[in-house]
Amino acid sequence: MRLILLGPPGAGKGTQAQRIVEKHGLPQLSTGDMLRAAILAETEVGKRVKAVLDSGKLVSDDIVIAIVSERIDQPDCANGFILDGFPRTLVQADATEAMLAAKGIDLSVVIELRVNDKELVRRVSGRYSCASCGSVYHDTDHKPGVEGVCDKCGSTHFKRRPDDNAETMTQRLEVYYKETSPLIGYYYAKGKLKSVDGMAEMDVVTSQIEAILADL
Ligand SMILES: [Zn+2]
Repeated sequence: MRLILLGPPGAGKGTQAQRIVEKHGLPQLSTGDMLRAAILAETEVGKRVKAVLDSGKLVSDDIVIAIVSERIDQPDCANGFILDGFPRTLVQADATEAMLAAKGIDLSVVIELRVNDKELVRRVSGRYSCASCGSVYHDTDHKPGVEGVCDKCGSTHFKRRPDDNAETMTQRLEVYYKETSPLIGYYYAKGKLKSVDGMAEMDVVTSQIEAILADL
């Protein structure tokens, strides 16, 4: 099973990807993690990434594709993988198709999580996490059992990501609609797209995704 989770920031891709990882044992490939791992492992591509980042530039599509390609060749991806947060543009989507085709494999499905903007802003701007263990909470949707104390580790220190606010979120959504949302039509045209109602309860979204995966 080779799948992509597609959707705007705050749509719940991370949560749902984590659940697919647990249920199906597929590795979740996040480009950020892969870039860091390649740098640490000092692979050829990793050295190029480090040089680019050290010079304060953005890593090019070619390099990211090379990293994803290397990662997919690892034995734990033999039964499939989940691509998380990638591809983000049509150029990257085309390059991904070509890279997979060269390996003689293809995507199984692209699952789109549909959530409206108002809800995305509400979700993201209420989000915070435990400063010690990283457990994620929300001002109204998911508070710790005891106010101000992390359920998981008991810490009383919490933090908010600086980009988790309404203003930054609006900018992130603009980028998403401009650069990433064209992928919805792109994969639809290839017969790969399945959409789920991301406004539903998390468990309901999971069931919708499981039904799609069971159908593959
Ligand atoms: Zn904690």
